[in-house]
Parts: sequence; structure tokens; C-alpha cells
Amino acid sequence: MNIIGMNIDRLKVMEEDHNKPGYFICQCQCGNTVSIKAYSLTKRNPTRSCGCLRTETARMIGVNNLNKAHELNRKYNTKFQVIECSHNHKNNTSGHTGVHLNPVTHKYIAYINIHGKRINLGNYKKLDDAIAARQEAEDKYFAPLIAAKNEMRAQKGVII
Ligand SMILES: [Zn+2]
Repeated sequence: MNIIGMNIDRLKVMEEDHNKPGYFICQCQCGNTVSIKAYSLTKRNPTRSCGCLRTETARMIGVNNLNKAHELNRKYNTKFQVIECSHNHKNNTSGHTGVHLNPVTHKYIAYINIHGKRINLGNYKKLDDAIAARQEAEDKYFAPLIAAKNEMRAQKGVII
């Protein structure tokens, strides 16, 4: 995969680091040049700055301890990833996320996963009822998390 020339938030990938295999020299918008592992630039939540973004975030949310800021961000990202994963996951037996057809009872089971725990939302004869139950649960459980995430975003720099 050729990542040279790619822009990742504040970073621009300049060239391979010939001194460190698997690392790339990146130019940060703040002026710093850093050597970053290719994986860190291509993974789902990539490195986005030389570290200056994290410092600014820490300042912005009024936390002096950088590790604490990082921990806060991770906490919110993790929460949101849980939501996104379950949103994207289409259940194989019903074709709808969070709705599963019980092959024995021929009833639809609605459920929702929150922080790795499955909450049972009941059994339904009609698929539509199960989908409605799931939707209601999404509004109840996910909306506050999404709101919290957006609020963090509004305060800037949630994702470091
Ligand atoms: Zn920087």
C-alpha cells in the first residue's frame, strides 16, 4: 500500500524512513517532522499529528495530564465503536440488526448490545414488532451516548 503523499488530519506522509523499516517520515502542520509506523497511519483510528493535537486537546478540556486526556478520548471512542459495530452488524437470521429468528419457536427475538452486554428486548411473532422494539431501545440507549460523543466533539478534539 502506497501511503506516501497521504494526508491524515495534520500529518502529511513524506517518505519512507530509511533508518527504520516500516516507518514513514511525516510532516505535521505545526512544523514538526516525525517518524511514524505505517500501521499507526493506516489503522482505524490513525495517528493524526506529531503529538501536538493531543497536547492541545489536553489544554482544551482543561486536563494537564496527557495520559488522562488520552484515557478520556479512548473511553468515548470505545463507547462509540460499540454502537457503530452493532449498527453495522446485520443479523443473519432476520436480515435486521438486533433481531434474531428463533428456529425452534419461530419467534423473533429482539436484543441490543450495550458495552458488550446483550439486553433482551423480548420475543415477537411479527418481525415488524421486533424491529420496532429494537428501534425503541436504540433511541433509549444509543441516543445519550451519541449525544455525549457529539458534545465532546463540539468541545473539540475528541479523537486524538
Ligand atoms: Zn504537530
